[in-house]
Amino acid sequence: MSARLLDGKALAARVRGELADQVRGLARAPGLAVVLVGEDPASRVYVRNKARAAEAMGLVHRQIDLPADTTQARLLEVVRALGDDPAIDGILVQFPLPPHLSQAAVLDAIPVAKDVDGLTTASLGLLAQGRPGLVACTPKGCMRLLDEAGAVLEGAHAVVVGRSNIVGRPMAMLLEQANATVTVCHSRTRDLPAVCRTADILVVGVGRPELVRADWVAPGAVVIDVGINRKADGRLCGDVATDEVAEVASAVTPVPGGVGPMTIAMLLANTVESALARGA
Ligand code: NDP
Repeated sequence: MSARLLDGKALAARVRGELADQVRGLARAPGLAVVLVGEDPASRVYVRNKARAAEAMGLVHRQIDLPADTTQARLLEVVRALGDDPAIDGILVQFPLPPHLSQAAVLDAIPVAKDVDGLTTASLGLLAQGRPGLVACTPKGCMRLLDEAGAVLEGAHAVVVGRSNIVGRPMAMLLEQANATVTVCHSRTRDLPAVCRTADILVVGVGRPELVRADWVAPGAVVIDVGINRKADGRLCGDVATDEVAEVASAVTPVPGGVGPMTIAMLLANTVESALARGA
């Protein structure tokens, strides 16, 4: 292997340590509220991990568990009450929601100042306009990883595969604001491997196990793998065939231990940022 493995776990631990120091210096502990609707097992695991990380850092963590048959009106009422609660700086509603609930309506009930996931229309709008605001956690974590890798973004060609509101779209905006020239790819892109081969920076958030192979990657490219997939044998893998890509790239994130831990660290960072902005 020639590529450097970008250790998101270690970087996230460092970020969390710095945030914990910062929190100790505040007049009050920042508060994070996590709303979980239903019993989706994967969501439960994500929520538990976020709770542990928040508590370890000295945040006030409040979890609101609602039954799967919660009505839209009740969920909006809960979110709005958290919006009005002065002890709460960040509100996160765990997705996916049960199918009878509107994710868009729930997101847009979160006040922009408390949108620590950075996913509301208002937060994405601020990002699109290059104005200050809370930035979506996964792309923000990818930017920290790129910074840690020493990747030069200005003038570089960045290719982002995937255009979701949670990963690809905000990622492309952040890279463009860092003065990269950005190409966004998706399921209808023609000759995706050829486009990827033109990338100095390749960010992949698709949800297809090991889609990106060594011959999709230019020698020396920096590759950020956002995907989290489970193989038939139960092991986790990303959207990038890490072992073979590592023979070509200059740096690559592993899965697990790359982008995932940074996403949680950036959620905590956003909560502290929100608390500071709200006078903590
Ligand atoms: P979505 O399903 O919302 O979006 C997937 C995107 O990939 C879409 O834009 C889709 O294109 C595109 N796509 C799908 N298949 C292909 C293909 N064969 N070639 C090119 N593009 C394709 O997924 P998310 O953005 O929510 O998540 C993507 C991955 O990232 C998942 O594995 C998810 O688990 C992971 N993830 C990881 C996080 C972390 O913390 N590490 C956080 C969030 C997500 P189109 O728009 O045309 O349909």
